[in-house]
Amino acid sequence: MPPRTAIVIGAGPAGLTAAYELLEKTDVRPIVFEAGDDVGGLSRTIEYKGNRIDIGGHRFFSRSDRVMNWWQSILPLQEGAERGVEVSYQNKTRTVSQEGPAANPERDERVMLVRERVSRIFFLRKFFAYPVSLSLETLSNLGPVRTVKIGLSYLGIRIRPRPQEQSLEDFFVNRFGNELYRTFFKDYTEKVWGVPCDEIKPEWGSQRVKGLSVTKAIVHAIRSRFSRDESIGQKRSETSLIERFLYPKYGPGQMWREVARLVRERGGEIRMGRTAVAIRTDGDRVVGVDFRNEATGEIERVDGDFVFSTMPMQDLVRGMKDVPERVRRVAEGLVYRDFITCGLLLRKLAIRGEGRPDAPAGLVPDNWIYVQERDVRIGRLQIFNNWSPWLVRDPGTVWLGLEYFCNEGDDLWRMSDEEFRKFATAELAKIDVIDPADVLDGVVIRVPKTYPAYFGSYDDFGVLREWIDRFGNLYLVGRNGMHRYNNQDHSMLTAMTAVENLRDGVSSKDNIWAVNTEEDYHEEK
Ligand SMILES: Cc1cc2nc3c(=O)[nH]c(=O)nc-3n(C[C@H](O)[C@H](O)[C@H](O)COP(=O)(O)OP(=O)(O)OC[C@H]3O[C@@H](n4cnc5c(N)ncnc54)[C@H](O)[C@@H]3O)c2cc1C
Repeated sequence: MPPRTAIVIGAGPAGLTAAYELLEKTDVRPIVFEAGDDVGGLSRTIEYKGNRIDIGGHRFFSRSDRVMNWWQSILPLQEGAERGVEVSYQNKTRTVSQEGPAANPERDERVMLVRERVSRIFFLRKFFAYPVSLSLETLSNLGPVRTVKIGLSYLGIRIRPRPQEQSLEDFFVNRFGNELYRTFFKDYTEKVWGVPCDEIKPEWGSQRVKGLSVTKAIVHAIRSRFSRDESIGQKRSETSLIERFLYPKYGPGQMWREVARLVRERGGEIRMGRTAVAIRTDGDRVVGVDFRNEATGEIERVDGDFVFSTMPMQDLVRGMKDVPERVRRVAEGLVYRDFITCGLLLRKLAIRGEGRPDAPAGLVPDNWIYVQERDVRIGRLQIFNNWSPWLVRDPGTVWLGLEYFCNEGDDLWRMSDEEFRKFATAELAKIDVIDPADVLDGVVIRVPKTYPAYFGSYDDFGVLREWIDRFGNLYLVGRNGMHRYNNQDHSMLTAMTAVENLRDGVSSKDNIWAVNTEEDYHEEK
């Protein structure tokens, strides 16, 4: 009997984990089809003239031992971590240690680095600590007038809260007061999601905002200023200032290239430049998938016993026949937020008085900086030198990633690369971070569907899920694959769970949907 095969759509973390686990745990042979020309999906590392870009800055952290051990089995921890090192993510802390030989980053290629995390807020052309504390420095940065206004408006809202929380704005204002909301949340949230806060449902705040550390920090700061309950939160935010995280020497894509290599070595197959365009079904089973070969334009018909999909649910449903109208409407109504990152290579930074004495080129210590300035559209600034020195070809240069949240087809998206590079350079110059004369090179990367949003038709998501779950041999996994705001670890856990269901003959998909429902930590934006 020929071996059973699984068609895996997408070679991001979820697709590659599914393939790897199928090879480890079942006799089903995976064939992975990837639309793009590299593996890793949103977690890939893009190389530009010897400099490497991480889309979004990916910290490797999971509360799941299984995921942490899995990562370490692929890339060993750097030397010094043998006896255990503490890593954290949004106030969740754990100790990791290396079993077996550790790696030396100077000598070895396959290394998981342990990095210290530094990130600050840039606002009013000044740096604010992140998480924010109402320290003397913060207060002097804000100035006396703003500080008094913030305090008064916070007290005001405690005395007379908005009676009904009908929008995210109401949610924010009721918790922080109008002035603090306008100072730190309104513009940045709108930059990220592209929707005014008064048009976003308040429930979104309680679900999502508790994952944003800026919020936590300011709440804490305000509380410790205005309430008596100071002790516990204070300790917590102090320890969070020295967070460490794991990071592959050559960026997150190194992890996924390594996994891809192992998948091939163990008998799986990965075909690049293949876009799934049609899902063929028969009753409540998927029988095959048609792929467009991006090099030739030809359609290739592939049959399989199982399908693991990490492609956006909207595209998946578009590729299916006999979809009930109600289901199609929900799929079409799903909303995504898109992303552009502009890599800029510089001789040096222009920020004065913020450089590390030992660092070249005026380098600031941050991994990334939240740009809260209102007169620019940039959302975050990555400093790749500080993620891993091996992301940068010449250590005497500064390698930045300027991140913009946008919508596919909007004015930012439509700019030519050259226009965008100039625009992004001008923005950083405007807020005094760089001198345009120091720019050596630049590259623009557009990334569609980076954030599956919980707006649009999401309220009716159950209709879509229920219909798709009918197909017993179709497993939706990952981030866009499940339209869920999943990190790498959650994306992997959904794939691991799906493979176990296949192996154990479990037909319900409930345990896959249950991954990451606690909603308490996500990548930070
Ligand atoms: C800005 C940002 C910051 C982040 N920070 C972190 C972090 O710090 N830590 C962390 O753990 N996670 C972080 N994440 C989340 C992480 O990137 C994702 O969870 C992870 O990459 C999702 O994996 P996936 O395989 O589900 O999807 P993806 O990474 O999106 O991969 C899906 C793959 O499928 C391919 N594909 C799509 N459609 C088709 C098709 N029709 N046919 C064939 N192939 C197709 C795509 O090309 C892609 O390669 C961040 C994400 C972003 C956007």
